[in-house]
Amino acid sequence: MEKPLGSRYRLGDQLGTGAMGRVFAGSDEQGKTYAFKVLRDELVEDPELVARFLQERSILTGLRHPNLVGVHDLVVEGETVAIVMDLIGGGDLRARLSAEKTLLPAEVARIGAGVAAALAAVHQAGVVHRDVKPENVLMDGTVPRLTDFGISRLATATDLGRRSLLVGTPQYLAPELGKGLEATPASDLYSLGILLYELCCGVTPFAGQSTFAVIRLHESAMPGRPAGVPDQLWDVLCWLMAKRPADRPESAQQVATILDALVLELMSQPLVLPLTTPPKPVPLNETSLGTETVFGTPAPPPPPPRRPVTSPPPGRSTGVDVTPRRRRRKGRVVLTLFVVLAMLLGGWFVFRPTQSTGAAQAPAAPTTSAAPTPVPAVDAPSATTTAKPSVMPEVVGKKLADAQDTLPGIQVTTVDKIDATAADGTVIEQDPVAGAAIGGAVTLTVAHQAEVVYLDSVRPASGEWRDIKSTDIAGKNYLHAVGAGVDASSRTDLVEYNVSKGFRKFTATAGIDDNAIDSSLKVQLEIFADGREIFNKPVSFGAPVPVDLDVSGVLRLRFQWESVGGNQRLCCGGNYIVLGTAELLGLPGEVPTSTPTTTG
Ligand code: ADP
Ligand code: MG
Repeated sequence: MEKPLGSRYRLGDQLGTGAMGRVFAGSDEQGKTYAFKVLRDELVEDPELVARFLQERSILTGLRHPNLVGVHDLVVEGETVAIVMDLIGGGDLRARLSAEKTLLPAEVARIGAGVAAALAAVHQAGVVHRDVKPENVLMDGTVPRLTDFGISRLATATDLGRRSLLVGTPQYLAPELGKGLEATPASDLYSLGILLYELCCGVTPFAGQSTFAVIRLHESAMPGRPAGVPDQLWDVLCWLMAKRPADRPESAQQVATILDALVLELMSQPLVLPLTTPPKPVPLNETSLGTETVFGTPAPPPPPPRRPVTSPPPGRSTGVDVTPRRRRRKGRVVLTLFVVLAMLLGGWFVFRPTQSTGAAQAPAAPTTSAAPTPVPAVDAPSATTTAKPSVMPEVVGKKLADAQDTLPGIQVTTVDKIDATAADGTVIEQDPVAGAAIGGAVTLTVAHQAEVVYLDSVRPASGEWRDIKSTDIAGKNYLHAVGAGVDASSRTDLVEYNVSKGFRKFTATAGIDDNAIDSSLKVQLEIFADGREIFNKPVSFGAPVPVDLDVSGVLRLRFQWESVGGNQRLCCGGNYIVLGTAELLGLPGEVPTSTPTTTG
């Protein structure tokens, strides 16, 4: 059974229902298939949410990554708001976990690396996901693809959305969010840690408790370690699940790289036995992390809960050497992990000395007290690679995503603008200008190719034009013209449209049609937007008048005219005031996709 969605899409079978709404399979006019998430009525009734939704359009639709479910369009059509996204056939990670109970450690690392890479792309765009859980990882064959990025942020911006999201599970909620603090990229990393924990052993660490207890445990206890989780994977999980955001990995990209490197290491590791109840959580005061430091910003972070580098224990020459071999392997793996880390992050220090003058005798350590052990050295240089710029770079002419790449950690507000002179999705204006200090927020104006609706295809709410199709003004022909008969004694007349706030611009060429019998005719043309005059000019024979108006947010658009001069004797018939090539321009996704809205 198919149902239209706007003029471009058709909805097919329902795929599922979630907290935000129902999801359908469907297709566009060309038969290309998509998934459509049709938001729940209560969310759509909230004008604040819908406005934010449209405002953030270019961020959501601009994000592309092999591990993200791409968002292609946002359709706002009457009461319906739908997100058009890639259709993923393989079900979600929850379904896979339910079928398999636990995943192989190497597979946990591989999926974790993919989700972390997706998070890196999301964070780069200045978005925090906030809802990382197995249900939001769709399986495209073997490729994990994260979905619902940015949506929960929009939803939590409104009271209603916040309430409906809180209905969700607290199992993956970072401790700082349980305390009501702002979500950050680090909170997504915590959720990823819980997700990977669950993939390893089949349950989340605080499963089986009340919502309140779970939120408290996130703050006050470390997850218990399930038997059989390999050391090197457990180290990464603990790092992700660190209580203090500052103690978690520096970035999602770093996590992706580390987990990627672990996949091979973990290849021979067997499945962990599936659990139905998690091991007993370890209260924080029984661990090296004191409860009092959990949210204390000034206190220096304790070392990340990672294993220190140890040299492999000496092998035994007698007896069965099961234990030593296992240990030796562990030592090698930990060493490898450290080397990968050091090369990625600390390598900058370690391999840089030849360039620094007079430092050749102390290659590995900077001259300050930093990095007495390799562990702190790991974190320091990566801060320089993802450092927030303090001076605004030139981004005009760049694609939005590339522009955002040059602004890590900066809050970027985008303004969508119709502009045919620049390629779709490129930045055409920036504030602050290049070279200026970045004070607070950065605003980028992004060009979009307009979607055009010709005025002659829209039914007026009141009044009507003569059906003239094309017109000549000062010797030039214009298609898609509308017009009305006038003469020197014509009174005020009007045509009004309901344009449902779906357009940004109205453009046309106003004039008196060249075939007029009264060449002295002069008509005053006025255009009103929701009662406010936005155009008022005399139109004379032989003189085209360009009309280019901002109609953003306008509901009712009224054209009104009255003759102000001419030859009274050349009356009645044969003179037309015209609007040549009269176009309403809107952003794809905002333009109303059918004409019923124009009846009044
Ligand atoms: P919500 O996040 O609003 O709670 P979900 O994203 O979980 O809702 O979607 C509900 C259902 O629709 C899920 O079962 C999911 O498998 C399915 N689904 C969601 N997005 C897609 C998609 N892009 N392709 C295929 N199926 C999807
Ligand atoms: Mg979801």
